[in-house]
Amino acid sequence: MTHRKDTRLVKVGDLTIGGADQVVIQSMTTTKTHDVEATVAEIKRLEEAGCQIVRVACPDDRAADAIPEIKKRINIPLVVDIHFDYKKALKAIEGGADKIRINPGNIGKREKVEEVVKAAKAKGVPIRIGVNAGSLERHILEKYGYPTADGMVESALHHIKILEDLDFHDIIVSLKASDVKLAIEAYEKAAEAISYPLHLGITESGTLFAGTVKSAAGLGAILSKGIGSTLRISLSADPVEEVKVARELLKSYGLASNAATLISCPTCGRIEIDLIAIANEVEEYIQTIKAPIKVAVLGCAVNGPGEAREADIGIAGARGEGLLFRHGEIIRKVPEDIMVEELKKEVDKLAEEHYEK
Ligand code: SF4
Repeated sequence: MTHRKDTRLVKVGDLTIGGADQVVIQSMTTTKTHDVEATVAEIKRLEEAGCQIVRVACPDDRAADAIPEIKKRINIPLVVDIHFDYKKALKAIEGGADKIRINPGNIGKREKVEEVVKAAKAKGVPIRIGVNAGSLERHILEKYGYPTADGMVESALHHIKILEDLDFHDIIVSLKASDVKLAIEAYEKAAEAISYPLHLGITESGTLFAGTVKSAAGLGAILSKGIGSTLRISLSADPVEEVKVARELLKSYGLASNAATLISCPTCGRIEIDLIAIANEVEEYIQTIKAPIKVAVLGCAVNGPGEAREADIGIAGARGEGLLFRHGEIIRKVPEDIMVEELKKEVDKLAEEHYEK
C-alpha cells in the first residue's frame, strides 16, 4: 500500500501535498495568535528548525484579525485552525490563510458552509477536516458506543461528503487519537476509504520524552505502511522540539530528502574519546545541513569504520587522535583537539557538493 503516492494533489501555499513519496512537516504555535510579534517570532524559530507548514489557533476575532500581518511576515504556508465559526473562517481566508482547518459538519446551516466553500474556492484555499477520537459526533458515538476506527472514518466521510456535494475537492484529512492502536487502525482504514492526502498525528501524546516515544511508535507504524502526506508531532513542549522529532522520524524512513543523519555508537569499554559530548555537538551541527548526508561518530577504530560503512563521512576515536573515514575507508588522521572541527569541515564540503548537483 502506498497511499501517499496515490492521493489527490492538494496545494497549500507553494507546497503540493500528496501524490508523492514525501511527507511534509507541520507544527502549531503556542503563542496567543493575536500577539503578532510573539507568534511571528515563534514561527521564525519553527521555520529555522525545518517546519514546512505552520498552524495557528483562531479562537477569537483578535486572532482572525492578526492573520494578514502574520502572513506577511513569514515564509511558510499558514494554516488557520477554526472551530465552528464560519465568520472566522471567512476572515482567515480573506486574510491570506493558505489552508483552514474546520469541520464542515460543525459549521451549522448549509448557507454558511456554502459561503466558506465559495470563499475557499475563490482563493484556492484547501480545507483540512480534523477528526478527533475525543470529539466524535454524537450520532457516531451512539452507533459505535465509544470511539472506534470505523467511527472516525465514518465521521471523516461525513464531512468529506458535505464538501464534495459542493464540488469542493481541495481536502486534507486527519484522524487523530491519543490511543496509538486506535490511531493506527483509523489511518489504515482511512487509507482504504479516502483518496485525499492524510495528515498524521497522535494527539496529546505527552511530554518531550514520553510523547516522542509514543508518537514514533504510532506514526512510525503508519508511515511504514506508506500512509501519510503531512505530519505533526504533538508534544507538551517547545514546538521546535516537535519539528526536530518529526525530522528524525522521517529520516528513519528515508522520507526526508533534505536532512543529514547521525550514526553514533552506543560506546563500550573500547572507547577512546568523549563520544557522548561529540555526538551531541555533531548532531546539533548537522541540524542545519539540508542534504541527505550520513555522518558517523564512533568511539574507537577497532570496529568503528567498518560498522558504519554506510556513512558518507565519519570520525572514529583512536588514542589521542581521530580517524576520518568515508564509507568505511580511513582517509586521514587528525589530532584529537581538532577532530570535530575537521569533521564539520568535511560535512560542509559534502553538503556543498550536494547543493551544487
Ligand atoms: Fe565500542 Fe568502538 Fe563499537 Fe563504539 S565503535 S561501541 S567504542 S567497539
